[in-house]
Amino acid sequence: MDVSQTIKGLFHSAVDAICAHRDGTIVVANPAFARLFGYASADDMAGKRVLDTLAPEERERIGEFIRRRATGIDAPSFYAATGLRRDGSRFEMEVGASMFQGDGESFCVAVLRDISDAAAAKRHLVESEERFRNLFKLSPDPTWIIQDNRFVECNRAAVAILGYPDEDSLKNVHPSELSPEFQPDGEASFTKAERMMGLTMANGLHRFEWTHKRRDGSLLPAEVTLSATLLQGKPSIYCSWRDISERHQAEAQMRLAAGVFDSTQEGIVVTDIDGTIVSVNPAFTRITGYAGCEVIGKTPAILKSHHQDQNFYRAMWADLRARGEWRGELWNRRKDGEAYLEWLTISAVNGPDGKPARFVAVFSDVTELRRKDDQIRHQAYHDALTGLPNRFLLGDRLDHAMEMARRTQAQVAVLFLDLDRFKIVNDSLGHHEGDKLLVEVARRIGQTVRKSDTVSRLGGDEFVVVLGTFSDSTEVALVAEKIIASLSKPLRLSGKAVHTGTSIGIAVFPQDGEDAATLLKNADTAMYQAKAAGRSCFRFFDRSMNALAVRRLELEAQLRQAMEAGQLELHYQPKVVVETGALAGLEALLRWNHPEQGWIPPMEFIPLAEESGLIIPLSYWVVEEACRHLAQWRKAGIQAKVAINLSARQFHDDKLPQRIEAILQRCKVPGSALEIELTEGSVMDEPRRAIVILQRLRALGLRISLDDFGTGYSSLAYLKRFPISTVKIDRSFVMDLPDDPEDAAIVRAILDLARGLNLDVVAEGVETAEQMEFLRAAGCGQIQGYYFSPPLPAAELGEWLRKKP
Ligand code: C2E
Ligand code: CA
Ligand code: CA
Repeated sequence: MDVSQTIKGLFHSAVDAICAHRDGTIVVANPAFARLFGYASADDMAGKRVLDTLAPEERERIGEFIRRRATGIDAPSFYAATGLRRDGSRFEMEVGASMFQGDGESFCVAVLRDISDAAAAKRHLVESEERFRNLFKLSPDPTWIIQDNRFVECNRAAVAILGYPDEDSLKNVHPSELSPEFQPDGEASFTKAERMMGLTMANGLHRFEWTHKRRDGSLLPAEVTLSATLLQGKPSIYCSWRDISERHQAEAQMRLAAGVFDSTQEGIVVTDIDGTIVSVNPAFTRITGYAGCEVIGKTPAILKSHHQDQNFYRAMWADLRARGEWRGELWNRRKDGEAYLEWLTISAVNGPDGKPARFVAVFSDVTELRRKDDQIRHQAYHDALTGLPNRFLLGDRLDHAMEMARRTQAQVAVLFLDLDRFKIVNDSLGHHEGDKLLVEVARRIGQTVRKSDTVSRLGGDEFVVVLGTFSDSTEVALVAEKIIASLSKPLRLSGKAVHTGTSIGIAVFPQDGEDAATLLKNADTAMYQAKAAGRSCFRFFDRSMNALAVRRLELEAQLRQAMEAGQLELHYQPKVVVETGALAGLEALLRWNHPEQGWIPPMEFIPLAEESGLIIPLSYWVVEEACRHLAQWRKAGIQAKVAINLSARQFHDDKLPQRIEAILQRCKVPGSALEIELTEGSVMDEPRRAIVILQRLRALGLRISLDDFGTGYSSLAYLKRFPISTVKIDRSFVMDLPDDPEDAAIVRAILDLARGLNLDVVAEGVETAEQMEFLRAAGCGQIQGYYFSPPLPAAELGEWLRKKP
């Protein structure tokens, strides 16, 4: 008989599962082994690890056996274990293991038997009782033998874990005596123990959680496995525990974390690594208005408010990648659209592989907090009574204005106001009325200045106004005048008309001081001079400015009267056709015959009239006067055309065409006798509006001339679209003709352009025969200037006309 063949046959047909392994890696297994673990063929088993055929909680214990055996240390050769099938199901088995030498190598051969079947278990346990007892004693798990529902035997591990001195202390006790009176589920330990043992006897195997009590009274959560068996023919229960306090702690921690997640005031968003929302807590819903189901699967971008730009988010992500954390303030938007400010912390949470797997964002709504902050800040920087900026904010604004002015080389004016007679009002009518007066004063000042100017109250009856943009001191003086005028109107307090007023001192940055304190001090000084000069007036800190401002203001007041007093006059300057010397038209130029100062040139009083708004009535006076003269000349048989100058300011008056039409009708003069001269600036300001107004004027028969051509920012594209008939070459180009080659080139270019656009050209300021000759040769159609005639009074003009051929 071939021995090796016989062994092979036994191996293949054995009912018991057999495998040979080296250091835990299966080398060969029989079909019964494959069947037992649910594999199709024994060949599949080679290379698998023995430990993988065991329930996870068994692996450490049995692994230790395998290690010991391999290194020749004594290890149990029979033991019970829980096996793990390929499909994950478990079964109880008995294992016998021994070492074999073969081909110079050593193997471990293990013989396994499924003992889950109760009958098989019983039979088997009776048979191998001795082996079993050894196994029981050596088991690293705390293990008991129960008979008649009492512990009759236990191993060392059991003694150790409960803190008793020896095995004897644990013998002949009911399981409930080693437990608290009640189990965590509320059932009495005694009743529950009886029930569990009953179930075991009925089913053979039973597993459950149990809380034990150590000798020192501390509690010990355990997972208990009870299996029914026969010992010496007596029904017994084999009882083993595993300490699960760690698992309990982890569970408790998870419950705690879940509790925090659910109950915290802070919103929590958990996203995966791509930023897709995985979960949100109830506070998230409360703050944002979005329910969990509305946002899970989306990204937090649905909350975006667009208060932050791309760069903000880029920096946030860079931080998150570099440090795994970001914190800061962020504006987001609730479901109802309202923006809110959140304080946000985002942290990356690593997965089991150590790489970031989740982002957890925790945020709180700080909008309200910020609002209160802002309120406090507002209170700190504003006057409680009037709501105006107080001294601190004034300092800030003034610093800022000076900073801006330094950069643009502009000026800043500080107006220091002190109310006249305030103390009298306060003392006679009481503080309450005094407060009302201050509030009203604040309102009136606010109405006189631009939004960009700062009005502040220093306290008491002192106010300060800061003007940021103005062209010259006259403009500042005008603002001061306006404030004085508006505060000199009476107001009603306690049913009485109360007259107050203010004196104003003005200091201008940088000449009167380069810092806020100096400017305020000098404005204050100037204010006292204003008071001394007789109240309800203003004074510049710098006296030379006073003189200038005073003259301008006087002039303005006088100009008002000049119209009524007949001090204004129109002079006329002829325009002549170059080729024939015939009269082409007349330009009306305004003159002011001042009773003391004599003739005041228009360049001195027209800007003044523009600033004060006086230009509007003044210009209509000009139109009216020109039409009156036209009518006279027409009666005398002179078919002259008159051009009048319109300022930019007047050109912005929508009623202009309609008013001119009314004047023409009243004077019985046709529109074709009138021409309008405008500068480029007037029309380029608001070109679309200009085109509309010009077209309406054209419809009345008026011709339009573009004055001072070449000095402005002539936009050729627009020029084409304006209904213009003539351009007037500015005197500055004519002055140096014919010697200046640049001017000559410019004049030729203008003439070319005009020809191309089919426009008439008038050269202004022609004083010499040489200039005249150059222009004639260059093809200029008309000429105006002292060479032919200066502007003349209407009466003298008649004479000039008569002298003409
Ligand atoms: P403008 O419209 O360019 O008027 C021509 C100016 O050149 C006039 O000065 C005229 O006296 C002056 N002038 C004429 N020929 C010569 C010359 O050969 N040599 C020199 N050196 N000057 C000459 P004026 O009368 O002082 O007017 C100055 C400006 O005042 C005018 O410039 C016009 O812009 C404005 N202006 C005059 N009257 C009125 C008016 O009624 N309304 C408006 N809005 N502005 C007016
Ligand atoms: Ca003109
Ligand atoms: Ca001109």
